[in-house]
Amino acid sequence: SSGARVSVLVIGSGYGGSVAALRLAQAGVDVHMIEMGMAWDTPGADGKIFAHTTKPDERSFWLRTKTKQPLSSFLGFPIDRDIQRYTGILDAEEFAGITVYQGRGVGGGSLVNGGMAVTPKRENFRAILPSVNPDEMYNVYYPRANAELGVHTIDPAWFEVAECYQYARVGRKQAQRSGFPFVFVPNVYDWDYMKQEQAGTAPRSAVAGELLYGNNYGKKSLQKTYLKQIAATGRVTISPLHRVTSVTPAPRGGYTVEIEQLTTAGAVSTTKTITADTVFFAAGSVGTSKLLVKLKATGALPNLNSEIGKGWGDNGNVMCGRANHIWDPTGTLQASVPTGGIDNWAAGGAFAEVAPLPTGIETWASFYLTLTNNPHRARFHWNPSTKQVDLDWQKVWKQPSIEMAKTIFHKINATEGTIYRSDLFGVNTIWGDHLTYHPLGGAVLNKATDNYGRLVEYPGLYVMDGSLIPGNTSVNPFVTITALAERNIEEIIASDF
Ligand code: FAD
Repeated sequence: SSGARVSVLVIGSGYGGSVAALRLAQAGVDVHMIEMGMAWDTPGADGKIFAHTTKPDERSFWLRTKTKQPLSSFLGFPIDRDIQRYTGILDAEEFAGITVYQGRGVGGGSLVNGGMAVTPKRENFRAILPSVNPDEMYNVYYPRANAELGVHTIDPAWFEVAECYQYARVGRKQAQRSGFPFVFVPNVYDWDYMKQEQAGTAPRSAVAGELLYGNNYGKKSLQKTYLKQIAATGRVTISPLHRVTSVTPAPRGGYTVEIEQLTTAGAVSTTKTITADTVFFAAGSVGTSKLLVKLKATGALPNLNSEIGKGWGDNGNVMCGRANHIWDPTGTLQASVPTGGIDNWAAGGAFAEVAPLPTGIETWASFYLTLTNNPHRARFHWNPSTKQVDLDWQKVWKQPSIEMAKTIFHKINATEGTIYRSDLFGVNTIWGDHLTYHPLGGAVLNKATDNYGRLVEYPGLYVMDGSLIPGNTSVNPFVTITALAERNIEEIIASDF
């Protein structure tokens, strides 16, 4: 409540925030987490907590009156529909040159993501975080993150026979015929549960296409891992539907934090001011960067260094589909959780995940989310006339990603005698180059912060999320975000508490 004084305040309840809150609570520190999204613990009128992928409703999107689905069309027809404005789970946040998809709610991106839980190859790690000791990461913190998140690889024998992975086996066959290695991608999905879904002995979730708007059953989001452990400590309070708008030094020590309470229609119902001894920024790459850039520019935290807002990248995300021959159906039943990818990172700067197109009908299409080694980095700026934070990413900056993705798909198309699909992102459009699922950077480790996430100009302020990572992880990012947070919080608890 307003006027309260708390010891530790954590802004955001995604991976970085959950790691920090759990380890602090286990060390005996009381923690208050502030989350702008909903709790996602109560079923709606249909008895389900999360909306279905093919029937988006108000639960599906953050404060929009029309859906903004990543695949915006099918057979050339637009598929977006009107919905009620509501504090839904998936935010399609639009900047001038890119739409950034993010999870909103207690659990952050873990509520909406594909669960792909990938540790980067050690030889790529130096380029990702050059100031971090790789021995510590690969011996201690990556194993810790993987264990806590519940990461496992699909049973390879089941993969060969599962109806819901026919699309992935087609993807593997075509990759291998073009000479590319196909590798299994670990996931946090409960594979035993998926076997039961496929067998019809448990309610369907991944096998029913659930993903972008939440999984009602089998995915181990943070709700089932870190946040469950957090609840068991009894030391952490979580306030959903609360948004932090300001952090500034308090007159008698600590920080004054301004917080807005939101209604489910997105209106501000109350404004609260509290004091916190310590504040962890874990609002995600975009959330943390926007807050810090605003607070520096408007004089709340004027001494933040000039690296704030820099080093942002899209993890090289680019999407595309390919049309297959009629004798290569990808299946009407497709598990939403990708399980394998095509590795051409070393030669072509591209790693393509073989993704589902869970429409419920045969599409004769293969669909891919490719992660590429895109070199472009953008910067967040305060715009005094709109009083908003802008991002200077330009749409043409995706061109290197497209070229890298082509090193895989031009070759596969040549081998197979097939063509790209041009009906998934509009009319006559091949590349999904308008979006990212993987925002990274904006408060880069050892530049905007010290080597452990401390904002050194302001003792007691820390950054703990994907904004620490300079734009690219070479793989899907959440395992690296989790492992880095485990590393940083261990040092911070040992030295600062
Ligand atoms: P987040 O998880 O984004 O958490 C930040 C939280 O802070 C959010 O809950 C947000 O609502 C809250 N917040 C923001 N601003 C404020 C504020 N001012 N006040 C209060 N709260 C605030 N990654 C993978 O590794 N594998 C995948 O398969 C994968 N698939 C993805 C699919 C989709 C559709 C999306 C959107 C993302 C996917 N990702 C995937 C990316 C992954 O989810 C993110 O990298 C990860 O969640 C980032 O973690 P974080 O701790 O930095 O922040």
